Amino acid sequence: MEIKFENVSYSYLAGTPLQVDALKDINLTIEANKINALVGPSGSGKSTLIELINGLKLPTKGTVYVGEHKLKNNIRIVNANKLRFEIGFVFQNPEDQFFQKTVKKEIQFGMKYFGYKTDKINQRVEDALKMVGLDNTYASRNPFELSGGEKRKVAIASVLAFNPDVIVLDEPTNGLDTTSKESLVKLIKTLKEKYNKTIIVVSHDVDVIYKFVDNVIILSNGKVLFQGDKYSVFKNIDILTKNGVKVPRIVEFLHKTECKTGKYLGDIDNVEDLTKEIIQNV
Ligand code: ADP
Repeated sequence: MEIKFENVSYSYLAGTPLQVDALKDINLTIEANKINALVGPSGSGKSTLIELINGLKLPTKGTVYVGEHKLKNNIRIVNANKLRFEIGFVFQNPEDQFFQKTVKKEIQFGMKYFGYKTDKINQRVEDALKMVGLDNTYASRNPFELSGGEKRKVAIASVLAFNPDVIVLDEPTNGLDTTSKESLVKLIKTLKEKYNKTIIVVSHDVDVIYKFVDNVIILSNGKVLFQGDKYSVFKNIDILTKNGVKVPRIVEFLHKTECKTGKYLGDIDNVEDLTKEIIQNV
């Protein structure tokens, strides 16, 4: 599902002396069936931007198009409930909110709350576990006794159970070890490639996201600094650094090598391909 922001501004406490202009005239496109990263320093407007996608916040100015939905100030959202289920949010450290005794209960809790029928719930729990790569034996396990990576997968499964078209993940790799991060990256790619989801990842972890995202949106001080495919966005090393945005180490390496040798080894996002290029060029 494509999402478009057209001249969108959002102000907190609008019209009061304490007004904060969190987003200023944003124009951007979040492509369907792609992994889109949202990157920017703290306070740049990332949380505000993702909260405008499911209609919980409405723009102060401008329009957000989410698939068939048009979100605009002072306009009633047609099919507001449909929209809520089409966008799945995985918040930061979601497993901190676990409170059920089994994985199954944890995943089905939200669906029960929204009155889904038992048959449908059982099927969706099974499907959601499969989608995150956990077999059915996990259903009866205690969620508190799982590893950090498994917990994160269960939290993602509880969002997938609603069958959303778009999945927003806020700092998904936060607090995970390297192996769990790699496993999560694989899962996010599968959600795009096998299940055709549109993914939005909010992250500071530029080294990890560079390996698997397609597009990047950089926010700075409530404005879009850059948007586009990851290679073209992260080529703007000086401007990004000046605006407090970290550049992936692999991009820095390729840039430094180019400065020293005059040779650009290519748009490379992983160490294996980088090693091959270096061996061929030495
Ligand atoms: P980020 O997620 O990139 O850290 P936010 O979207 O949370 O950025 O914040 C953008 C700006 O809006 C910041 O200046 C922040 O202080 C301000 N802001 C966020 N939430 C509120 C709020 N509830 N009331 C007033 N200002 C807010």
